[in-house]
Amino acid sequence: MTMKPSQKEEEYFIKLEFEKKKKLEAEKNKRIMEEEKKRLRDLHHMRCPKCGMTLVEIDHMSVKVDRCASCDGIWLDAKELETIIQLNQPNLKRWLKLF
Ligand SMILES: [Zn+2]
Repeated sequence: MTMKPSQKEEEYFIKLEFEKKKKLEAEKNKRIMEEEKKRLRDLHHMRCPKCGMTLVEIDHMSVKVDRCASCDGIWLDAKELETIIQLNQPNLKRWLKLF
């Protein structure tokens, strides 16, 4: 009888070790992705998606509109377009006059 583990056992431990390292790598990548997401969010927050300049928030008739101070582009948050559509005709005209 030999003390050396059999080939199969050795393979099993190599595989186990690999799975452990693979899991650690995946966790590391996830952390890097989260850091990158945070970095991009900080970098792009309230920036125009077209020209990259600062967006100015305008709060009008319960709709918050972000307007670019440079190219005059208008950015709406989720559901804000639906809110604008729901405004009745005279209100909508008044609202649109602003822009
Ligand atoms: Zn812009």
